[in-house]
Amino acid sequence: MDLFTHFLIPFIILFFIGSKWPIEGGLGGTSVDFDFILIFIGFLLPEFFILTHRGITHSFIFGFITAAIFLYIVTRQPVQEFVRKLIKRDINLIFNWKTVLLAYFGVLTHLFLDFLTTGGIPLLYPFSMERFSAHLYYYTDAITTIAALAVLIVLYLKINWKYKKIAMTLFVIMLVSFGGIRCYEKINVTNALEENLEGNFTQTATYPTSNMFVWQGVLINPKNQKYQLYAYNGLTGEKTFQGNYSGLVIENETYSLSINAIKKANSTVAAQRFIWYSYYTSIDAKFENNQWKITYFDFLGGHYTPSNLTIYVNG
Ligand SMILES: [Zn+2]
Repeated sequence: MDLFTHFLIPFIILFFIGSKWPIEGGLGGTSVDFDFILIFIGFLLPEFFILTHRGITHSFIFGFITAAIFLYIVTRQPVQEFVRKLIKRDINLIFNWKTVLLAYFGVLTHLFLDFLTTGGIPLLYPFSMERFSAHLYYYTDAITTIAALAVLIVLYLKINWKYKKIAMTLFVIMLVSFGGIRCYEKINVTNALEENLEGNFTQTATYPTSNMFVWQGVLINPKNQKYQLYAYNGLTGEKTFQGNYSGLVIENETYSLSINAIKKANSTVAAQRFIWYSYYTSIDAKFENNQWKITYFDFLGGHYTPSNLTIYVNG
């Protein structure tokens, strides 16, 4: 989800329940996406690949810390003075335990929305690195982003609050409707995929694309780590086979030598980072020119990372 939506959702909820500090809540909602600053630290400390966008700040614990620090910074007088001049509006932000909690409420709405989008977020970090996702919305949605920006402009304008309330209500209706359509389409694509289940292929998984009617579906054979990828169009009901994939391909040499080489490659930071980001990691092991070529591949493709990675290890 985009930054504008992440501001608006907590702001709108707090506004309609009559809170005195909806802006603090909205700012909290945006705070955890300022994690792009951490990407630079991530370059210096590659083993901490949690220091990235949709990484450490997108967890319950560090989300709280991020919101508190962010609210502290934006409520300093010089910062407030600068913002007032910049936006030509007389806002007065407050930093106390109540507004910190409201900012954290903003973070919780953010984590919920990002959980609904594909890709996932490490909600339980530092206890677990696991990424959680409902795979319902795509990373960002152009229509939602534009609508959210329009609502922010309406909120900024000096017009009757009646119109602002209408704009906020319409935005929420739009966002919920998109979610409803996507839920409906996800159920449809899952049903369509289940028709193809046979033999060791016993599970399905579905992933959204930027088009709410077009989905990616995966048939899974957990026993042998085999996958079949499909594209599904909910408007036409068309299901297209896109390819067979395998979790492990050993090109030459023996199984045990290959597994040894893969273990060595897996211990590298680059591989761990790749696996952490991937939906599915397919590994191809090949011995050539006296060294092992271990290739990692994600057939669903990386959004924030390349879709494959090659690591060379000695035999
Ligand atoms: Zn986010």
